[in-house]
Amino acid sequence: MANDNKKFQAIISHCKEYGFIFPSSEIYDGLSAVYDYGQYGSELKKNIKDYWWKSMTQLHENIVGIDAAIFMHPTTWKASGHVDNFSDPMIDNKDSKKRYRVDHLIEGFAEELEAKGELERAKEILAAMDKLIAASDFDGLKKLIEDNKMKCAVSGTSNWTDVRQFNLMFSTEFGSTASADEEDNKIYLRPETAQGIFVNFLNVQKTGRMKIPFGIAQIGKAFRNEIVARQFIFRMREFEQMEMQFFIKPGSQKEWYEFWKAERMKWHLSLGIEKEKYRFHDHVKLAHYADAACDIEYDFPIGFKEVEGIHSRTDFDLRNHQEYSKKKMQYFDNDLGPDGKPIGNYIPYVIETSIGLDRMFLLIISNSYTEEDLGTPEKPDSRVVLKLPVKLAPIKLGIFPLTKKDGLPEIAKQIMDNAKNSFRCFYEEKDAIGKRYRRMDAIGTPFCATVDHQTKEDNTVTIRYRDSMLQERVDVHKLIEIVEKQIF
Ligand code: ATP
Repeated sequence: MANDNKKFQAIISHCKEYGFIFPSSEIYDGLSAVYDYGQYGSELKKNIKDYWWKSMTQLHENIVGIDAAIFMHPTTWKASGHVDNFSDPMIDNKDSKKRYRVDHLIEGFAEELEAKGELERAKEILAAMDKLIAASDFDGLKKLIEDNKMKCAVSGTSNWTDVRQFNLMFSTEFGSTASADEEDNKIYLRPETAQGIFVNFLNVQKTGRMKIPFGIAQIGKAFRNEIVARQFIFRMREFEQMEMQFFIKPGSQKEWYEFWKAERMKWHLSLGIEKEKYRFHDHVKLAHYADAACDIEYDFPIGFKEVEGIHSRTDFDLRNHQEYSKKKMQYFDNDLGPDGKPIGNYIPYVIETSIGLDRMFLLIISNSYTEEDLGTPEKPDSRVVLKLPVKLAPIKLGIFPLTKKDGLPEIAKQIMDNAKNSFRCFYEEKDAIGKRYRRMDAIGTPFCATVDHQTKEDNTVTIRYRDSMLQERVDVHKLIEIVEKQIF
């Protein structure tokens, strides 16, 4: 899919105009790559979270959820490899002082070539980059950048520093005692939620009497000092992850990896998104902890990009925590082995599914955002509608009296009172009915109900459907049922 920057910019504006997403601390000109969710954004985000949480914990009997703290003992991040390895190769332009992630600089250059029709050359450059990154060949990467005369977008020059590693973890101080050695007080903001699960593996296994295979799920904030952070909520410095670590018997990782790949794709498609919008992308360079890994990519307006990672993490994390903490991270397996005796102790292997909540939000908005031309040559007309999955829509039902008089508001408010216990409703009596419908379209409300004079006679209302804009009369008592049918 070609980049559709115009659509991307329109989505960003729409999110702001309709109370979905605001730049953080906007009155102070914002904070780069940090965003706040507004009144409708926070509802939509919560609905995505609930949908994931339910599918993971409630619908999988062998998965339980936890909520671990953001701050963790600093040794956690030594054991996990983040202190030594959680870094990206960067390069600075000496004239503009602008810093680039090497892969992003090269990918950007390849995209420019593609746009100019030089497809073969773009492909060759990307293949060369993959090889050099896989071999951690920093001199080679610099040479690739220089040989192809890649330029800085700000200075327009090719005057580059060497390629260096840059750690992405944020750190802060913990406690109030002054220490001679500042490193003693240094603590990290977690760059992933997974480690909160690993350090609690035995707590949960023992108190929940969990039997392998089983999973632990968690939703929470993560922080990364991203260098290139200019793609709205696609790449943020503070974001949320929905992760699940699935603990399995060593040797069964291939089978479970395939299982979770299929299971997670099923989840995405269950939201009614077309299959063609998704693809798997296998990792060329595996992270320090993985023996297999892939991304689920979605066709965003900015191109196919990762929304979720599925990683076969081996026993890397538990084994390292065992080594650093000197506490056993073993599981005793009662199942009988081929010799008829219990299999006994082992450190479980892990399959991880890790999805960015904010990226999933962007995916849902991108997939739903539709500009429709409804006009005729004589009478131009258009609307922007968010065709959100009903389950996820912030407001399910708009309730409107046709006019502000003749007792219609009272009837509409009564409907609101009856329905609001079951799902989120929105009441409004201002402006022409057409305008009210359009405002509901813009925030993705799937149903509207209008009370008019006929309601007083036969207890029916007009229900108006967001996507088709069709209207029909239904009995007031049927209203809740119609909406609920689509939510559950
Ligand atoms: P990328 O290659 O895009 O930096 P990653 O491979 O480092 O992502 P993981 O460490 O696998 O990402 O994290 C799992 C998920 O967390 C990602 O699939 C993504 O949805 C989300 N995520 C990671 N970094 C960010 C970020 N800076 N902003 C928003 N979401 C993020």
